[in-house]
Amino acid sequence: MKLDTRAMRHLTAEDWKVLAAVEQGSKNHELVPVPIIERFSRLKGGSSLVSKCISTLAKTSLIAKMKEAKYDGYRLTYGGLDYLALHTHSQKKHIYSVGTRVGVGKESDIMLVADHTGAQQILKIHRLGRISFRTVKTNRDYLKKNASGSWMYLSTLAARKEYAFLSALHSAGIPVPTPIAHSRHTIVMSLVDAPPLRQISSVPDPAALYASLIELYLRLAKHGLIHGDYNEFNILIREDISINPETGTEKITLVPVVIDFPQMISMEHVNAEMYFDRDINCIKIFFERRFHFKPTTPGPFYKDVKKTVGRDGFERLDATLEASGITKKMAKDLEAAIRQHEEEKLQNPEAFEPSEDEEDDDEDEDEEEKEGEEANTDEKEKEEQPSIVIGFQSPSESG
Ligand code: ADP
Ligand code: MG
Repeated sequence: MKLDTRAMRHLTAEDWKVLAAVEQGSKNHELVPVPIIERFSRLKGGSSLVSKCISTLAKTSLIAKMKEAKYDGYRLTYGGLDYLALHTHSQKKHIYSVGTRVGVGKESDIMLVADHTGAQQILKIHRLGRISFRTVKTNRDYLKKNASGSWMYLSTLAARKEYAFLSALHSAGIPVPTPIAHSRHTIVMSLVDAPPLRQISSVPDPAALYASLIELYLRLAKHGLIHGDYNEFNILIREDISINPETGTEKITLVPVVIDFPQMISMEHVNAEMYFDRDINCIKIFFERRFHFKPTTPGPFYKDVKKTVGRDGFERLDATLEASGITKKMAKDLEAAIRQHEEEKLQNPEAFEPSEDEEDDDEDEDEEEKEGEEANTDEKEKEEQPSIVIGFQSPSESG
C-alpha cells in the first residue's frame, strides 16, 4: 500500500463528509449500507449528491465494494483511512505537504512531511494486520473473527499506544522524537537527524556506545518499561558536538535516540524477563558482529534490574496505557496481533522484506492468487550495507 496523495486536492468538502461517514459507519458495519452513509454524511444535496461522492471516492479507491455482498454498501480502504488522517493533520496545521517515504516496513510506512513553516517532520502510518492478508490462511484467524482483529482497529491502536508512550517518555526526558500529533493510525513526530545503528560501520569507542545503550535501556526499566524490540533498527545514533570553551577543542558525544514503541510492555508483564533478555542479547550480538566488541561483565539481569523500578525518583510509566484510555482488552488484542506478526516473520521472513512494487492488498478478491505466489527473492538480497562512520574527531584545521 503506497500513500498516494494526488487525489487529495480534488476532493470536495462533500466528498470528505461522505468519506468520514463511511468511517463512522465502519464502527458497527463491516460493509456500511448506503442509507447509513447518507444519514451520517448529513448532506443537503440528498441521495443523488451522496451517490456522486461515493462514486468519486470509489474511483480513487478510498472506499470499496465487496464482492458477493448481500446489500449495497462500502467499506473504508487503507487509502481512505490515510486520507482522513492526513486531512485532520492538515486542518490542524501539523502537516502542509507530504514528501518522500524514508522507511518501509510491513508494519508501517515512514514519510517525510513538512508543516506550513517548511519544517520537516516524520509521519508514521501504522499498518498492522496488513501482512496477514498476504500470507497463509491460518494467520487470518484472529483477523476474521471480529472487529478486534481488523487492520483498522489494530493499526489505530498501535498508533495510539505509540503516541502515548512517545509523549510519556518525552516528558520524562528520555531521548525520543518529539511527539507532535496523532490521528487514527498515524502519528506525527520530529525528524531525528541521525542514522539508525544498523547503518553505522564504525565508531571510535564501541565500549562507550554500548554502555550508553545499556544505560538508556536501564533508564526505561526504572520507569517500569521494557522496549520489546530494542535493536539496531530502532535506535538512532545522534552526534552531539560541544566545544570546550577553554581549549576550543571539539568534543563529540554519541547519543542514542530510541524509537518504535507499539510493543512496549511493563516490567511486571508475565513474559517480562524473556523480552528483557531478548532485547539485551540483541544489542550484544550486534556489537560483537559489527564492532567486534564483547562486554567484559555479564548481564544486566532482569532480577536485579526489577529492583530498580520506580527508584531514584523515576516516575513509573507502565500505567501510561490505561491513562490514555487503552483498556486491558485493547492492550491484549494489540499484543496478540504483534506476537502473531512476530511469529509470521520468523516463519516466513521473505514476506516481510520491503518491496517497492507492492500491490494494493486491500482487495480481498486477489488474495487467493497471491497466496500461491513466491515472494520476490531479489528483494531479500537487497540488504543495505552499513556505511556510516560516526563520532570521529574531524582533522584539526591547523594540521
Ligand atoms: P517500524 O515499526 O516499521 O519498525 P519505525 O518506527 O521503527 O517503524 O521506523 C522505521 C524506520 O524509519 C527507522 O528504522 C528509522 O530509520 C526511520 N524513522 C522512524 N522514525 C523516525 C524519526 N522520528 N526520525 C528519523 N527517522 C525515523
Ligand atoms: Mg522499527
